Amino acid sequence: MADRVVVVVGAGIVGLAVAREIGRRRPGDRVVVLEKEDRVAVHQTGHNSGVVHAGIYYRPGSLKAVLCARGREMLREYCAERSLPYKECGKLVIAVDDEETARLDALEARAVENVVPGLRRVDSAGIRDIEPFAEGVAALYSPHTAITDFRRVAEAFAADVVAAGGEIRTSCAVNRMTRTASGIEIGVGEQVLHADRAVLCAGLQADTVARLAGGDPGPRIVPFRGEYMNVVPAKSDLVRGLVYPVPDPRYPFLGVHFTRRVSGTVEVGPNAVLAFAREGYRRTRFVPRDMAMTLAWPGFRRMARQHWRTGFDEMYGSVSAGAYMRKAQRYIPAIGAADVVRGAAGVRAQALDADGTLVDDFRIDRLGRITAVRNAPSPAATSSLAIAEYVADVFEDKADAAD
Ligand SMILES: Cc1cc2nc3c(=O)[nH]c(=O)nc-3n(C[C@H](O)[C@H](O)[C@H](O)COP(=O)(O)OP(=O)(O)OC[C@H]3O[C@@H](n4cnc5c(N)ncnc54)[C@H](O)[C@@H]3O)c2cc1C
Repeated sequence: MADRVVVVVGAGIVGLAVAREIGRRRPGDRVVVLEKEDRVAVHQTGHNSGVVHAGIYYRPGSLKAVLCARGREMLREYCAERSLPYKECGKLVIAVDDEETARLDALEARAVENVVPGLRRVDSAGIRDIEPFAEGVAALYSPHTAITDFRRVAEAFAADVVAAGGEIRTSCAVNRMTRTASGIEIGVGEQVLHADRAVLCAGLQADTVARLAGGDPGPRIVPFRGEYMNVVPAKSDLVRGLVYPVPDPRYPFLGVHFTRRVSGTVEVGPNAVLAFAREGYRRTRFVPRDMAMTLAWPGFRRMARQHWRTGFDEMYGSVSAGAYMRKAQRYIPAIGAADVVRGAAGVRAQALDADGTLVDDFRIDRLGRITAVRNAPSPAATSSLAIAEYVADVFEDKADAAD
């Protein structure tokens, strides 16, 4: 097959990992990454918790379970090779009452099926051995859960793309796509780029960019802001690694947790508040077009009817540090509202189906020569190298049929 032009839309960790993988598999291909911002990793990739997940939570056999396990192994090796930060600080998932203990049992069964390395159950004394200031009746301990800096990992992927002869064009927002008999015409402002293949990895804009290519309107991306509190230095020694609650199985979010960062600071968060803008890092940011897209989606109205109470709770926690910290204090009572200051926020791109279901698994669609990543929430940063292998496989198999 002749060498091709492959365009990747989006220079977050997923798009960069995909571009890197395609360049590795077919060195003759011309790989061009188009990014609307003026640098890489500006959105989700640069605003997350930095946790390299070990695969506890995901439905066995799902893409999340399979790609998280493989992605974690690949990322650990990659960080070692490239001298990037990677620290196995371990994670406790703590139950504080009987109801949570029952949910912890179910989570343990799932984690065992997912063969999470080194996982073990501990009692309240065991919790204190690992995290002296944490409290609970039982916990799962995952010693190989790690922390890294995903922005730096993404920058290293970008350097690999360029070293292999690829291009990363920043300040290039894709605003048109036309499929023709010989490929795809991709519009950036007044310019048009011809591509033989394209991969869309647009994160918070995944649905709008897929629609430019003629993809389905759903699933729609609904933005959920995750706000963090920073623990003051005087109290940050009270947390050694990662301390998580037992997640509510109705939601794809993991609950407000304590996270040690590779920089040595400790954060509490993120919560999950419906954002009024897709790139709404501040509570007050409101983009009418984004809100209209959310409100017009039938799945949103269904979700709102079902989950409005949780939604209000999250909003209340967003404005009241006391309410926010009361949840976290169930696990580490010694860190309260007086011991934190407001920190940064990230916005999660969470896909929502028309029936109101929050899409749980990664979703990757094909449209002839175009492969569209439609849902890549956490643990997509952990899984990025494995997602890239998966996308490159899908891309080759089915794309060939479109020749
Ligand atoms: C608060 C928070 C905490 C998280 N914690 C973790 C964690 O601890 N561990 C973990 O594994 N995952 C975590 N995640 C999830 C993880 O960050 C994401 O799954 C991952 O970064 C997704 O990468 P991406 O490349 O798909 O998206 P993004 O990083 O959002 O990149 C998409 C890119 O596409 C670009 N783009 C969009 N539209 C266009 C266009 N029209 N033209 C050109 N470019 C365009 C955007 O500018 C952006 O740069 C967290 C996410 C959040 C928000």
